[in-house]
Formats: sequence, structure tokens, C-alpha cells
Amino acid sequence: MSLTTNGYYLTEQADELYEAGLNRINVSMVDSLNAESFAAITRRNYYEKVRDGIAKATTLGFNPIKINVVLIRGFNDNEILDFAELARKSNFIIRFIEFMPIGSDDKWNIQKVVTSEEILNTIEHRLGVRLAPKTGRGSQPVDIYLFEDGCGEIGFINSVSHPFCEHCNHVRITSDGKLRTCLF
Ligand code: SF4
Repeated sequence: MSLTTNGYYLTEQADELYEAGLNRINVSMVDSLNAESFAAITRRNYYEKVRDGIAKATTLGFNPIKINVVLIRGFNDNEILDFAELARKSNFIIRFIEFMPIGSDDKWNIQKVVTSEEILNTIEHRLGVRLAPKTGRGSQPVDIYLFEDGCGEIGFINSVSHPFCEHCNHVRITSDGKLRTCLF
């Protein structure tokens, strides 16, 4: 069992959650490592608070800590290498999720989607380190790649370029207690 969180209350609640037996978290609102871009996409000025919460979870021993990143072309796609470097220098698993159309006001269009293939090629080309696929995805909707020099792990969730609903068996409990078999 893992908690997906925007990280806002981690500094206050991580201790209690860890004591209660939770040790996996997935921080889903870190779409930028730049405070200004973070505020623009979340419409909240809490970048430092989220980073502090992630640091607290790290200190407590949460493992794995996954950081979800949705890249939008022209907005935060200039941060691919920053996130790749973060994956290499920390124990965080960075998971790039393709930008999906999830609502009428999300301003989605296909030109804004940065595909996993493009991200992978950029990382390999610019960092000069190959990424090798880890295993089959099993029940997870994520393709995991390891840097061939042993430093770092990156996941790709190809929700637009390679939809994976037939492999998805996750269930989710929302913060208000509802059971969801599908995000949509
Ligand atoms: S079944 Fe729903 S939650 Fe699972 S991958 Fe498809 S859209 Fe996402």
C-alpha cells in the first residue's frame, strides 16, 4: 500500500503515517524543481513546504519515495535533465507521466504531450548514459528503466502514446473514503 500525496501535509503527518505502518509514498505534485513554475502549475506557493515534506519522509525512512512528473511542452519540458539528475543523485524514483486529457479546462492538446520515448532519448543523449528496461511492468502501469551505470531509476507512464488499461489492477481509496477502480 502506498500513499499518493501532493506533499502539502507531509512535514506535519509523516511521523504518524510512518508509525502507523505506511512506508511508501508517491508525491504527485512536483512537476517542477523551480519554485516559480511550481507555483504557476499548482496555483499555490508551497514549493518549499513540499520539498521539506519529502526531506522529512526521507529522514524517517520512507522507501521508495516516488516523484511523479507531468511534462508539458513549452512549460516544464526544459527540466528533463534536472529530474534525471535528481534520480541519479538521490534515492527518489522519478516517474514521468505523459500529459493526459483529464478535464474540460486542462488545456490539453497532443502537441503539449512530451512522450516517454522523447524523454528517454533526451536523457540518454544529453547525459551519455544508457537506460535499460528493468522488467515487465507486471500489475503496474509503469515501465521502469535503470541507468546502466547503476545510478538511478526512472519510470515512464505512457498513458497517451501506449495506453495500458489492460495491465492496470490498482484500486485507490480517496481522501474522503471512496474506492476507485479507475482514475477516470
Ligand atoms: S484503468 Fe483507469 S486508472 Fe487504470 S490505467 Fe486505465 S485509465 Fe488509468
